[in-house]
Amino acid sequence: MEIKIAKKTGFCYGVDRAFNGVKTLAKESKEKVYIYGELVHNKEVIKNLSESGIEKIDNLKEFPQKYENSTVVIRAHGIPKKEREQLKKFKKVVDMTCPIVQNLVDYTNDVQLKGYYIVVYGKTNHPEMICLKGNVDEKKINITLEPYKLNTNKICIISQTTVDNDSFKKFYMKMMEINNFSDIIIKNTICKETSFREEEAKKLSKWAECVIVIGGKNSSNTRKLYNISLEHCKNTHYVENYKELSENIKNNEKVAILTGSSTPQWSIKDVVDFLKGNIS
Ligand code: SF4
Repeated sequence: MEIKIAKKTGFCYGVDRAFNGVKTLAKESKEKVYIYGELVHNKEVIKNLSESGIEKIDNLKEFPQKYENSTVVIRAHGIPKKEREQLKKFKKVVDMTCPIVQNLVDYTNDVQLKGYYIVVYGKTNHPEMICLKGNVDEKKINITLEPYKLNTNKICIISQTTVDNDSFKKFYMKMMEINNFSDIIIKNTICKETSFREEEAKKLSKWAECVIVIGGKNSSNTRKLYNISLEHCKNTHYVENYKELSENIKNNEKVAILTGSSTPQWSIKDVVDFLKGNIS
């Protein structure tokens, strides 16, 4: 069997920075370390962190005394300003918001100040979008996946960092077709890491007999790669770990492996070991 692994796999720059940052903190800090929300959308990673004694906090409705002398980490997706304020009750706050997400927030604020209404091609309930909306003027932004008619002339269209390029293009073309804007900025804010993985997914799924996409089922960038791969290779499998693969997969001659940006390297190694018959 020939196995081709995409050139970019495992954690992206932002996730790697957050994961290693929080692990180092937990090792060196005398205080307990918490993460506010899921560091990334990947069960394997969450399990690994919890085994290192790093606990996740889902909400701050209650603030138990045990939090007072501890450190809290802000995940790679970032969080809204209001929630950041609440975290001040912790002894220390370490911000691991990905700098690319931070750039998106800064850009949006700048353009809003210049009088533009912002339309973001993205998912309203995605943590990165919740962070964006919560750090800019909420009255001058709309996050949507559906083109629509707007009563504003001066607009700026941007994108969630993990959406796919083709869909973003279709979205803004349609927006221009159904509206009559006098002043429009279109800014592709898709992260280069995800664009590169998208291209690799297209290339490898055209080559392979079978594609294995590894990543959390709630990871939007992994799902995107799965959907791209499926267009060219019907025999595409979306798994969180090697245990979800059947023995029959070993009958394929050409297998490609893709991963989302929150998939750890150890999950890829496990899949390769499984395909080679080293683990069962
Ligand atoms: S995908 Fe890009 S924007 Fe998102 S965390 Fe990774 S490096 Fe940052």
